[in-house]
Amino acid sequence: MVENPRARTNTDEAPAHVDAVVIGAGFSGLYITHLLRERGLSVQGFEAGSGVGGTWNWNRYPGARTDSLYYIYCYSFSPEIAQEWTWSERYPSQPEMKAYFEFVADRLDLKRSFRFHTRVTAAHYDEASGLWAVSTDDGATIRCTYLVTGIGLISAPNTPPFAGLDTFEGDWYHTARWPAGGVDFHRKRVGLIGTGSTGIQILPIIAEEAQHVTVFQRTPNYVVPSQNRPLNDEERADIKARYTEIFRKIRTHPFGMAFDSPGRNALDVSEAEREAIYEEAWQNGGFHFLFEAFDDLSVDAEANETACEFIRAKIHSIVDDPTTAELLTPRGYPYGSKRPPSGTHYFETFNRDDVELVDVSDDPIVEITADGLRTAERGFEFDTLVFATGFDVSTGSFTRIDIRGRDGLALADKWRDGPLTNLGFSTAGFPNLLMVTGPLSPFANIPVCVEETAEWIAGTIDHLRQNGYHSIEATEEAERAWADENTAAANRILAAEGEKVNTWFAGANIDGKAHAINVYFGGADAYFAACRDATRNGYDGFRLIRR
Ligand code: NAP
Repeated sequence: MVENPRARTNTDEAPAHVDAVVIGAGFSGLYITHLLRERGLSVQGFEAGSGVGGTWNWNRYPGARTDSLYYIYCYSFSPEIAQEWTWSERYPSQPEMKAYFEFVADRLDLKRSFRFHTRVTAAHYDEASGLWAVSTDDGATIRCTYLVTGIGLISAPNTPPFAGLDTFEGDWYHTARWPAGGVDFHRKRVGLIGTGSTGIQILPIIAEEAQHVTVFQRTPNYVVPSQNRPLNDEERADIKARYTEIFRKIRTHPFGMAFDSPGRNALDVSEAEREAIYEEAWQNGGFHFLFEAFDDLSVDAEANETACEFIRAKIHSIVDDPTTAELLTPRGYPYGSKRPPSGTHYFETFNRDDVELVDVSDDPIVEITADGLRTAERGFEFDTLVFATGFDVSTGSFTRIDIRGRDGLALADKWRDGPLTNLGFSTAGFPNLLMVTGPLSPFANIPVCVEETAEWIAGTIDHLRQNGYHSIEATEEAERAWADENTAAANRILAAEGEKVNTWFAGANIDGKAHAINVYFGGADAYFAACRDATRNGYDGFRLIRR
């Protein structure tokens, strides 16, 4: 998707050798570039997209906005940036997030380190020189000591897994590859496939414009309203005055959020009290519902079921047609065992005459046809198809690059049965491949995880350079133990149950992918402590090698 090939070269021609290559110019890539440049390392960044922003540059679909509150879903490392940037909504839209990245990148003069419109296609480790040879889709190769990835956990789109797509005569789009100029849905009959966080955000906006929308749903979701709204000056000033305290708090919360523990369990209060608490949390919206109502929703199945029942009743009270309401009602799996989505008028949109819900749980989509698609039992005609079919989470963004470590070992082969990393940073056999929020890093508010892991990587590079080490990599024992701890952590909470409803937590959303836990559920706070312990204990679990 090269919009302007002439914009590819944002720097002069890439040099033949640098200290560090950074892949990606999103939250991770920008911050690690800043940290490494501060230390005097030469850095060459590559970004496949048209500019900075990572996920917020690619996911330009209408309705895209954060699910986390504006004052935690941002960088916290710079008090100046926090004070200088002014947010306009509780949950910033994609254009506002993109503008924020532009601001940060310009403020820190980061763009000069990146080549945009340039995809890294391969990275091979050369044992003799101890360097990585990194190849890009413009035919260039650059060598580096440290290969640092900022390629995100949720960035490799799940290509629509349907036969016949090439025969479709209308237009089709994956939400994560949305055209910069937007899509005109006026007078269009649209088929929308997927009802995860993305499908839930895009549906109400498409429905406003299109002639008709048919929504294909395989698994209904526990959608809580985000309760987004514009901010006023008073609340913005209050937050700016409290950033220090807020940023301290997100480092001690298991999900990296600035919530206080509610200090009560769902089954310890009366039914009337529970309903009132859920109602208040529903009115506060989004993650307030999961984290501020009760402490035990993620760990106690019976407690969780009370939240499920509350949401089910809400769906039936919002959706007019009882059959549609029941089809939209999730049953048989705990709230939170699929990533909990937030919506804005999601269920309300099914009250429109021009929106139809089709349940494909028992009647799957079998093929795309020239004029629409076919399920096993029905045919549908469309002008436009929108695929909100998700991502090959965690490993996909790595395995789509031909990354080879010692003895030509391909990362895709090594991770065929699931990711293996120590603390998400590093994997055995791949010296100096350093991953910012790599596979098996926490499932939590991403920016704070990015900052903690990028700072760990920068500090580790300091340690290597100051002590005469050439490289670092995980030990096999440590990465096996970390994978086991990840599985155990998912089983300690209800997250593991999502496997039966295709959760990406367990790799279950991609046909043919190994079912293995992809993210750490043991708590971001515990994870940050484990990273500090690893350093304090002389890089226990990592092999440091001199040349
Ligand atoms: P997703 O949660 O994986 O949802 C994909 C949807 O496509 C699901 O409804 C899935 O059904 C459906 N699907 C996939 N293959 C299908 C098939 N063959 N037939 C019918 N339906 C099919 O992907 P996403 O919505 O893009 O979200 C991914 C993650 O990105 C989220 O969990 C979240 O972490 C992040 N995200 C965040 C935000 C935000 O913070 N604002 C917004 C969007 C996304 P099944 O459920 O049955 O598999």
